[in-house]
Amino acid sequence: MELSTRIRTMAGSVSGAWDIFFRARALAEAGKTIVELTIGEHDERTDPAILDAMYNAARAGHTGYAAMPGTDALRDAVADRVTRQTGVPTARRNVLITAGGQFALFCAHHAVLDEGDTALMVEPFYATYPGVIRSVGGRPRTVAARPEDDFQPRADAIDAAVTAAADDGAPAKSLLINSPNNPTGTVYGPATLGALADVCKARDLWLISDEVYETQVWDGTHLSPRALPGMAERTMVVGSVSKTFAMTGSRCGWLVAPEEAIAHMIELTTQTTYGVAGFVQDAALYALQAGPEFEARIAAPFHRRRDLALKVLDGQNTVTAVPPLGAMYVMLDIRQTGLSGIDFANRLLDRHGIAVMPGESFGPAAAGHVRIALTVADDLLEASLRTLCTFAADPDS
Ligand code: PMP
Repeated sequence: MELSTRIRTMAGSVSGAWDIFFRARALAEAGKTIVELTIGEHDERTDPAILDAMYNAARAGHTGYAAMPGTDALRDAVADRVTRQTGVPTARRNVLITAGGQFALFCAHHAVLDEGDTALMVEPFYATYPGVIRSVGGRPRTVAARPEDDFQPRADAIDAAVTAAADDGAPAKSLLINSPNNPTGTVYGPATLGALADVCKARDLWLISDEVYETQVWDGTHLSPRALPGMAERTMVVGSVSKTFAMTGSRCGWLVAPEEAIAHMIELTTQTTYGVAGFVQDAALYALQAGPEFEARIAAPFHRRRDLALKVLDGQNTVTAVPPLGAMYVMLDIRQTGLSGIDFANRLLDRHGIAVMPGESFGPAAAGHVRIALTVADDLLEASLRTLCTFAADPDS
């Protein structure tokens, strides 16, 4: 039987992005000692206080179908948080609770793209982005953010991509950005965001802003484009408890958007996931109410390890770190070794049992780079980075 073109082509060529990850897992299962510096998963588990909240909610009976757009209390907590962060009045009716930030990305693109429309996204990009866009019938078009610009996207390149998409007969409807950024660790400041907002207004684009790493900013502060003049009505903000509270497995996130868009997306939720488990939502509410110190404690290891990684890499010049301003990763420029990111990662895994993500997994703009997730204990990270540097100095040995 034939399967649809859409499902067969959805993942595209980036499906190979996870090859190293799967190979590392298979080697580990076969008994080899592997240091996994691949995916963005905390080494610490969800805080017991959050688990208590989840358990108590389940025991209190919150195990049936939960409120479809999210519970009133959780939607209000998200709305308050976004109002505080942006200064833009945000209400319950602007918030949809979703199955992780991932489903919020799906909802947002579903809401703004018609079949064949172009969705712009900045490259290097989080590996699922093109698949999300294709899964709703959209056409992903990348705009490269270059290493020489510290991976900050340029507004003129986005403007040119809008024109190119129109010339191709597939008008651009949206721009997807991610700050703090996975994989580069770049944080977009007021100048970058202001310029992007101007293009969105001039070219009538929706701005879909993936802010799942909002609590992981090491230099400067997190700025949401929803805060910029005239942007609230054309911005959709993706948030999640995954990274902020080490709750990746709980699958709880949100989308903040204009009221009319949320009303349609509640319909979409009815036809798809039917919402998020009530006891998970109660746990997320507990976490969101626990306060900034609680959030800072969960983010702290990544800040500390970012500094540690930069210290280890200082004093050698075979690999160069792109200094991350946020998120839980460090991108290393390995072009001096003469290897592609894929070859580097494969050899490092085979020779030293260290798994890193090849830059090519995130699009050609990150070719010749590898991404290190700062998700192992400090001493193991330090030892692994030293091994990586020694390997990079003589990859043929
Ligand atoms: N956006 C980015 C940039 C991510 O890195 C991730 C997870 N790695 C997600 C969205 C999805 O996160 P979740 O669905 O767990 O909230």
